[in-house]
Amino acid sequence: MKKVLVAGGAGFLGSHLCDRLLNRTDIEKLVVVDNLWTGREANISHIQDPRFHFVRSDVEELQTSDRFDEVYHLASPASPPWYMKEPKRTISANLIGAFRLLDLLKKGGRFCFTSSSEVYGDPLVSPQPESYKGQVDCTGPRSSYDESKRCTESLLFEMQRTQGLDLKIVRPFNVYGPRTRPDDGRAVSNFVAQALTGRPITVFGDGLQSRSWGYVDDIIDGFARYFWINETDYRGPLNVGNDREISVLEVAQYVSRLMGGIPIVFEPSPPHDPTNRRPDLTNANYVMPEWSCAISYEEGVEKTLDWFRQEMKIPAAELAQADSRRLATAGR
Ligand code: UDP
Repeated sequence: MKKVLVAGGAGFLGSHLCDRLLNRTDIEKLVVVDNLWTGREANISHIQDPRFHFVRSDVEELQTSDRFDEVYHLASPASPPWYMKEPKRTISANLIGAFRLLDLLKKGGRFCFTSSSEVYGDPLVSPQPESYKGQVDCTGPRSSYDESKRCTESLLFEMQRTQGLDLKIVRPFNVYGPRTRPDDGRAVSNFVAQALTGRPITVFGDGLQSRSWGYVDDIIDGFARYFWINETDYRGPLNVGNDREISVLEVAQYVSRLMGGIPIVFEPSPPHDPTNRRPDLTNANYVMPEWSCAISYEEGVEKTLDWFRQEMKIPAAELAQADSRRLATAGR
């Protein structure tokens, strides 16, 4: 029986991953460490499993006498306004967090890390294979996130090379869906929250920049297959995403139509906004041939809308805070 630690387990992706882990029968204890910076207790409050333990702490400071068979490192903000506001804290959560988590891994244990498609920066190659080195600015306003993901990958791959660490790294592409914070500030959650509160949908720039939007269930299914279900020697990094690339404007227009024609307004682009993003899934198809993204963005956006509708007792103060965070970073 295994002891498992999920850092960032009260977050959007982390909480969905915990739900999947708790379906396993070979786990005796699952500990979540989360400081509730971007994570929320509401994301895990449905879990009644006696194997589940929640520790509120920065991952870097986690104190425990347990040692773990599997560690999942998802402790990081992922939304630009959040990580741009607290870059030092973002770097620390990813990188110093990884150092702390390595200390808590049993000898021979498995370390799984969620990196990001942000390691490709503003890519000049499309779709992006894992071998693409990316176009990232290490002094730019997105660097706290991009470079800490890159550096944490370096740390872990070097631990694998020099000490044989059992390692798996994924690079998810623009994941959205239920349990995103209403004030997260990312495209789909903003559009849906705006539409549901009767505010105009904010498209940054001309909206022709594109992303590959991955519905959370599809992405978590990919994580589970790669991290523990499928037997594979491939240590990653592994792109996990939906390879249907759609412009931001198209998503905004879709949400607007669904909600009876909510107006769209154009606002200045955030700094260094990537123009495109699309995963090359050759390796994913090899490692998990039975996996593919089953949920179209139209279906996924509708599901997200339904979830937000249930949740939408969003306090106005949270939304106002989200707007001010965005304005604070827009000029950088
Ligand atoms: N975006 C937008 N309006 C919003 C939020 C985001 O037009 O209210 C754009 C953003 O400029 C980017 C894309 O949507 O081009 C995806 O942004 P998000 O923050 O979701 O993810 P990331 O920039 O990390 O890919």
